[in-house]
Amino acid sequence: MSAPLLENLSLPAFDQIRPEHIEPAIDQLLEEHRVLLICLLEKPGARTWETLFQPLEEQDDKLQRAWSAVRHLHSVADNDELRRAYNACIPKLSDHETALGQNEDLFRACKALAEGEEYARLDSARKKIIDNTLRDFRLSGIDLGPKEKDRYRELQQKLSQLQTRFEENLLDATHGWTRPVTDESLLSGLPDSAVELAAQTARRQDRSGWLFTLEYPSYAPVMTYADDREFRREMYTAYNTRASELGPNAGKWDNGPLMAEILSLRQELATLLGYNDYAEYSLAKKMADTPQEVMAFLHDLAVRSKSVAQRELAALETCAAEEYGLKNMQAWDIPYYAEKLRQKKFDFSQEDLRPYFPADQVVAGLFSVVNRLYGLNIAPRQGVETWHPDVQFFEVRDERDRLRGSFYLDLYARPHKRGGAWMDECVVRRLHHNAVQSPVAYLTCNFTPPVADRPALLTHDEVLTLFHEFGHGLHHILTLVDYAGVSGINGVPWDAVELPSQFLENWCWEREALDLFARHHQTGETLPADLFDKMQQARTFHAGMHMVRQLELALFDFRLHHERRGQDTRDVQSLLDEVRRAVAVVKAPPDNRFQHSFGHIFAGGYAAGYYSYKWAEVLSADAFSRFEENGIFDTATGRDFLHCILEQGGAREPMDLFVEFRGRKPVIDALLRHSGMAPDTAIQA
Ligand SMILES: [Zn+2]
Repeated sequence: MSAPLLENLSLPAFDQIRPEHIEPAIDQLLEEHRVLLICLLEKPGARTWETLFQPLEEQDDKLQRAWSAVRHLHSVADNDELRRAYNACIPKLSDHETALGQNEDLFRACKALAEGEEYARLDSARKKIIDNTLRDFRLSGIDLGPKEKDRYRELQQKLSQLQTRFEENLLDATHGWTRPVTDESLLSGLPDSAVELAAQTARRQDRSGWLFTLEYPSYAPVMTYADDREFRREMYTAYNTRASELGPNAGKWDNGPLMAEILSLRQELATLLGYNDYAEYSLAKKMADTPQEVMAFLHDLAVRSKSVAQRELAALETCAAEEYGLKNMQAWDIPYYAEKLRQKKFDFSQEDLRPYFPADQVVAGLFSVVNRLYGLNIAPRQGVETWHPDVQFFEVRDERDRLRGSFYLDLYARPHKRGGAWMDECVVRRLHHNAVQSPVAYLTCNFTPPVADRPALLTHDEVLTLFHEFGHGLHHILTLVDYAGVSGINGVPWDAVELPSQFLENWCWEREALDLFARHHQTGETLPADLFDKMQQARTFHAGMHMVRQLELALFDFRLHHERRGQDTRDVQSLLDEVRRAVAVVKAPPDNRFQHSFGHIFAGGYAAGYYSYKWAEVLSADAFSRFEENGIFDTATGRDFLHCILEQGGAREPMDLFVEFRGRKPVIDALLRHSGMAPDTAIQA
């Protein structure tokens, strides 16, 4: 790390991105790429890293930086013009990828480099990039005949278009339904925060009364607290039929036909490349080796957790029947009565914690946690152009005051912004003319926004989400790898990528960490001991039901891409029904169309990979258990995690990195113990 830093790297000028300029700009970058490639391959002489990979990485970086800003805007500040420009570029970028992956001359040049003398002299990061590149040539169909190559290109292009449409339909369906309320009695049971948010939403649309939406901060409190059963049913149905052939907007943004087409094109793609199915193809780049290994892992967890989940549900039904006279519990009753039971059992509501989690304070506390763990100092930088006034920009410096990277933080839900929370790359760390290009991340959440003049008060779940995404952000930012292909999260197998994120969530449950930031927004007092105890006791409340829900999603996704059955929407539904019969305990109503909004697998990168969350949780829980043994702010353990995992990017195999940190291979015990499922709970810190 002797190279100087590019401190004043130019960041995207968001206010200057005009939709009509996007396509010509991308066209030009693609053309430059094509011309460069021809020049590089025409040059006589032996191939070296400097004459082949480095100039390509340089050009690729320009394209990635331009495109990631556009992709980001498409996610957080969507409008019709931007959408048109984005969609015009999608097939071109897909074709560009395919053309590179199928370029015979480039393949031969890479192979020559891999087999030549220089390879042995390269460091492990560059070797890994060359190895990955050769693997990816095969996965892009380099060995296929000309006709099959064409078909591969068509499939990829079509898939990228369909996946984008899936996401856009979901966004439109989410924002395409609202529920005005003028009868105050419907608000019974709702916490003030939810009522105020609904009033604010109504005011912004010049309406009287209250307006509820399908954005999560509006939807979730209704499901958890609204006493009016019919109101809950109505919201549940609207939410769980989004983008489907059923529900209040039936057929308007139906993702059904897209899903069927996506699945059948994925299957064709996998077969074309010589795999039995898309699950096998997906595992070619993952830590897990075979579909059998993944299925066995998920089944094992299902066996361990289903009876726990059944007992939890039975207790919930008994409580609802005995205390509230409820018969025939439905899906829209479960969060509501679960919250009632939680309050009865632990004398504690999710809402009780909110006043202790003002957003700014939580963000500052998060920074203190990573200061103690990794010696980082994080400070805002003013004057950086963003896409919305709520967005902040921060710089991350290490204990030697070196700039390690920076990030945008966009916390609150708003219209035209995709739901959920995620981290995305803006700039990737790499060497650029012998200086380090420091990484920049986008951290996006959809938290309850500030209402009136009160600060945004987060739920504990939202605090967990922030820590989770920040864990991804640190993985991207703290890398010391100097080559884009394996720096940060690049080149990290997908089923290991959730390790740093789930790992950081653990600090949200620790007294010592919470004391750094959980303070009442009005009185300034820290979290009272009894509230903390209740929160701890309630941690594993319904852990079995949560576990089987995650397994339901993981098994549905994996079997959907592994079993070669029919692939129309009826088959998708029947598989989901089958998985639910096997692992779920909560009965979904017949018109539940959750799968139509399962963007992770139909629009995101989790196809045949949703199991990654549980897979990586074994790693993250086990990694954290070393902190439980040594102290959660033990400096040596923190620095080991930084050096062994966060700084390494994708340059080495995740299993090797884990063993280096933990001193042994991962075991499942810590995950089970954290989920309240281990028979042995002796090692409580
Ligand atoms: Zn994640």
